[in-house]
Amino acid sequence: MIRTIDEINEKIANGEAVVLTAEEFVKMCKQEGVKSALKKVDVVTTGTFAPMCSSGAFINFGHTVPPMRMERIKLAGVPVYGGIAAVDGYLGATAESEEDPTFGGGHVIELLIKGEKVLLQAWGKGTDCYPRRYYEGLVDKHSINDFYLFNPRNAYQNYSAATNGSERILYTYMGKLLPNYGNVTFSTSGELSPLLKDPKLKTIGVGTRIFLGGTIGYVVWYGTQFRTNVKEDDNGVPMVPARTLALIGDAKKMNAEYVKGAYFKNYGVTLFVGVGVPIPVIDEEIAFYLSLSNQELKTEVRDYSKPEKPLIKVVTYSELFSGEVELLGKRVKTSSLSSIPKARKIALTLKEWLKNGRFYLTKPVEMLNEERVLVTRPNEDFDILQSVEIDLEIERLKLSLRDECVGCGACVSVCNFTALKINEIGKIALVRERCTRCGLCGDVCPIGLLLPEVEDSRFDVMEVENSNEGPCFK
Ligand code: SF4
Ligand code: SF4
Repeated sequence: MIRTIDEINEKIANGEAVVLTAEEFVKMCKQEGVKSALKKVDVVTTGTFAPMCSSGAFINFGHTVPPMRMERIKLAGVPVYGGIAAVDGYLGATAESEEDPTFGGGHVIELLIKGEKVLLQAWGKGTDCYPRRYYEGLVDKHSINDFYLFNPRNAYQNYSAATNGSERILYTYMGKLLPNYGNVTFSTSGELSPLLKDPKLKTIGVGTRIFLGGTIGYVVWYGTQFRTNVKEDDNGVPMVPARTLALIGDAKKMNAEYVKGAYFKNYGVTLFVGVGVPIPVIDEEIAFYLSLSNQELKTEVRDYSKPEKPLIKVVTYSELFSGEVELLGKRVKTSSLSSIPKARKIALTLKEWLKNGRFYLTKPVEMLNEERVLVTRPNEDFDILQSVEIDLEIERLKLSLRDECVGCGACVSVCNFTALKINEIGKIALVRERCTRCGLCGDVCPIGLLLPEVEDSRFDVMEVENSNEGPCFK
């Protein structure tokens, strides 16, 4: 190891850290070689700004008076997932308005970041503790408790370029694909792209501090669909979609310049997200990967008109960024869905933060180094679901869950006969001789345990006198 994170942070604190963007580092390596660049540079900043559908925001709206359990929620007409706590919701980037499907979660997230007011509507069934059944009012980011992006899958490590071998226009998440291989679209910032520059995630892990949406964010876990068993080029860099990151950051502090709602015609709503990751130049291996340019980085062009997306050709990013590639004997126009000017600006901003001591590097608290494969759902599952009576299935599943007392104690205080106690080791104990089988405890058990079909052997039994009696035999 040439330098440690601690040493780099000390240099940042002293204003002495040498920081280059990924493009600048590539250029330096071309001019003077990787070994020389490794000696001189402490950190390389990366950036990407692209549609990242697997994004969204957790929001806590604040309690209403009287309080309510917001079970069905809409923001500006866009459904928000309400299956969390009373006034928590998750606004997915791809959620669409029922009134206008060209408007959705990505747009609402952008509006909230901009400080706009949007209409909140919420419905609940009304309970004793949450009696209110409907609320509507305007909210903005200042009038809600919490608003943070939690993006399950961002910063894909490479992605296949798309073309269309069919005879009709295709509207996809990769944009409009013209018939007969009429164009190619792709989505990466190439040599600026975070995970192409540290392909084995040697420096990026849980807890890595990053640029997210114009503020500081963090890597929190493997992104969904993270996979490692992929085709790599001769340098060991994946040529296909591989690793991903789950990211978190405070949306109240974000800048809408780097978080932008979008609609892809006949496909749906999504969110452009700006992500920048600092890569510490800790050793020769990392310096080598950081030196790779668009001439060396590759991806596959695939035909999106067929479900299996057959491979058409392997190309370099330098070819794709040139505006044209040769495909099946003809010149075909290319376009990037990912914005290079924005990616460049993100890498430059991160560089400035590091140079000004506004941003320090973190050591991952856990590396993302598990070998992972991607599963695909077998078609049979659909047939199985069709043949299942779902209400019977739910009964079966509920029964299978009634397996263990969690020791919550909820049953103890409702027993009029003090037949249930918490014993000296914190377990629920039954004084069998006092139990009248009234069934009241069965009514309150959140696990559903105290039902007639469940044996009372789960309890520590105290002062047993009549072994036939137990709780809740109605
Ligand atoms: S039996 Fe049910 S209510 Fe009683 S302590 Fe166990 S989990 Fe809680
Ligand atoms: S069934 Fe027995 S243990 Fe349960 S509440 Fe009634 S008396 Fe108490």
